[in-house]
Amino acid sequence: MNPSAQIAPWLEPLWGGLDFGNFPNAILLHGQSGIGKFAFSVELAKALLCENSSAAIRPCKQCEACHWFDTGNHPDFIALVPETHRKLLPHADYEGDDAPKKGKSIRDDDAESSEKKEKKNISIEETRSAIENLSIGSHRGGNRVILIYPLEMLRSDSANTLLKSLEEPPASTIFILLADRVDRVLPTIRSRCRLLTAPRPNREQGLTWLKKQLSNISGLKASDADIETVYDEQGGAPFSVLSSLIARHNKDDKDELTISIQATRYLLQSMAQGVRMNWLDAAEKTHKAQYGFLLASMQRWVSDLQSVSQGGEPRYYPKHLNTLDGLSKMANTHKIDQFWKSLIQARRHENHPLANRIQLEALLSQYQQIFGA
Ligand SMILES: [Zn+2]
Repeated sequence: MNPSAQIAPWLEPLWGGLDFGNFPNAILLHGQSGIGKFAFSVELAKALLCENSSAAIRPCKQCEACHWFDTGNHPDFIALVPETHRKLLPHADYEGDDAPKKGKSIRDDDAESSEKKEKKNISIEETRSAIENLSIGSHRGGNRVILIYPLEMLRSDSANTLLKSLEEPPASTIFILLADRVDRVLPTIRSRCRLLTAPRPNREQGLTWLKKQLSNISGLKASDADIETVYDEQGGAPFSVLSSLIARHNKDDKDELTISIQATRYLLQSMAQGVRMNWLDAAEKTHKAQYGFLLASMQRWVSDLQSVSQGGEPRYYPKHLNTLDGLSKMANTHKIDQFWKSLIQARRHENHPLANRIQLEALLSQYQQIFGA
């Protein structure tokens, strides 16, 4: 039986062999690029964070932890992944300042190689601060999961920091390490992990899965012959083929993307003004963008506001630390929490064809009141 739609059929046996009751504190999942290791790992992280211990199938998709995970905001899930893979995390398809670049990377997988190289690296500061913060207990008192991909791209100083925490693992912390080329991973790191090999699908299995995924994407038309050609070109890696076909397909609706990027930027500039924000104007200028994009940006902003007001670091908008810091001094923390709940509520209904503008106005006016308006 399929444990979850996220797990590719050829990885199901691997999933079935996992023992959640006695999970090692570091696994190293390796195998060919583009066969579904990343999706597998994200689902695994969700399962490890799921708080419904009596559920027969994990993740249960019902508990609070699962919901937090799905909105991209579980505080105990840390993903050290390059920009190219951030978009594959739950609801992590938007990041304010970097949005235009990101938009490009979603659409255009054939970006210039220098740009690609940059995006493939994991930032050293990010790694260091994530690993150093492990001495603090987990936010929800359960597991904490750190996903690192691609492990072979970790710079040596980051690798050393990682190695130290693998040698003396912090309590309740599970490392999910991912590599396309296990031979390029430091042997000292390798030897401290349980190794899991992700098998590649056979051609028929891979193509069947791929065609099924493509049939769920409305408006995407590709002939079987085309699909098979791309499949073979990309060395039988179904996930890679899927994302390149989607990228090709999406090139056609650049306009909508541009509208959303500009609106998101305007929204963040407005929210940065706190009590001085003109919420009517902000709603007016942004409501034509995809509502889900706007909500996701608001969530990130407020999540940063929450963590700064508790003395932490902004996770999504580190460049705006000063603004966030200033805002947090004027903010009513109880109202921040209430606003957070409203955002979660709004996300549940983001696809309802109701008047977005009115909802947006209501949310933005609630946001302004956080600062004592
Ligand atoms: Zn759950």
